[in-house]
Amino acid sequence: SLTLGIVGLPNVGKSTLFNALTSNDALAANYPFATIEPNVGVVPLPDVRLDKLAEVFGSAKTVPATVSFVDIAGLVKGASEGQGLGNKFLANIREADAICQVIRVFDDPDVVHVDGRVDPSGDIETINTELILADLQTLEKALPRLEKEARTNKDKRPALEAVKKAQTILEDGKTLFAAGIGKDDPDLRELNLLTTKPFLYVFNADEGVLAEESKQKELRDLVAPADAVFLDAKVEAELKELDEESQRELLETIGQDEPGLNALARAGFHTLGLQTYLTAGPKEARAWTIPQGATAPQAAGVIHTDFERGFIKAEVVSYDDLMAAGSMAEAKSAGKVRMEGKDYIMTDGDVVEFRFNV
Ligand code: GDP
Repeated sequence: SLTLGIVGLPNVGKSTLFNALTSNDALAANYPFATIEPNVGVVPLPDVRLDKLAEVFGSAKTVPATVSFVDIAGLVKGASEGQGLGNKFLANIREADAICQVIRVFDDPDVVHVDGRVDPSGDIETINTELILADLQTLEKALPRLEKEARTNKDKRPALEAVKKAQTILEDGKTLFAAGIGKDDPDLRELNLLTTKPFLYVFNADEGVLAEESKQKELRDLVAPADAVFLDAKVEAELKELDEESQRELLETIGQDEPGLNALARAGFHTLGLQTYLTAGPKEARAWTIPQGATAPQAAGVIHTDFERGFIKAEVVSYDDLMAAGSMAEAKSAGKVRMEGKDYIMTDGDVVEFRFNV
């Protein structure tokens, strides 16, 4: 499955956040046989729709979609020069599908900041500079080959141009993602560049900043078009230790209506380019993970490869229409249930039953 790699400078709260992400009893109950690597945190994607569906269909349980975060230790200045853990660090990021940067906003005299001061935009620049330098190295290595190929084969010229353009952007100190060049760019894809991956920023803030809209807007603007999530990693870790009632009380005292990890799971899911569709029956109400833009047969294939191969039709009703009608039978008689064919592009929140040949 797709993963977000968690990176950040030392002492910004990565381990605290990662521990909060991984201490997850609800998930262990739903996925008892999943072997999970120690550095991988699998987080359920909170979805209130599942409980409602379970009510309507009398489902015995709900199974949410999940998002996977990988803890990537070891970013230091000079990582791109292969210092210390640098090389391993960059190799680990290369394997991740998106980059989740943890940025320290909390002020705490007891927690040393590597550069001696709390400076979110300076920290972002430090991290991005390492990633940018690593990409520049990759491009410099690729250039001589591409130039040679482009001389004899004009089909290679777009690739050469793309590499040169990417170089200019990076030399300007910008990530390729921020410049609108993504990892699916056909001319750059094979180079597996780090800064073409989608970015997500987690601002580890204390109560003050969590309540301060203007400060948040400033930081959001700083990292746009990337998604930004604000949370207090220490509070998130504490919440995991509490029962539901005490959780609610703690959230109330800090003026939040849900744990920050919920927002992080949603933002992570979105950053990875994923969406869900829903199924429901007596056994379970379940959210299935598909890429944005997936067709109905591709969606069926997530349940079972046979479903994709033998796909005939999908019976689809939007979650909102189904809830408005009150039951599947009522939704049908109201004409809200559609029969969709193999070209149908799935929409988030589709409630689906597939018809297939075996
Ligand atoms: P890492 O080096 O990025 O993994 O950082 P850690 O998670 O080990 O955190 C470094 C220190 O900062 C620890 O003492 C944490 O308890 C503390 N810390 C982490 N998050 C917060 C926070 O949100 N507020 C405060 N005040 N301290 C935090």
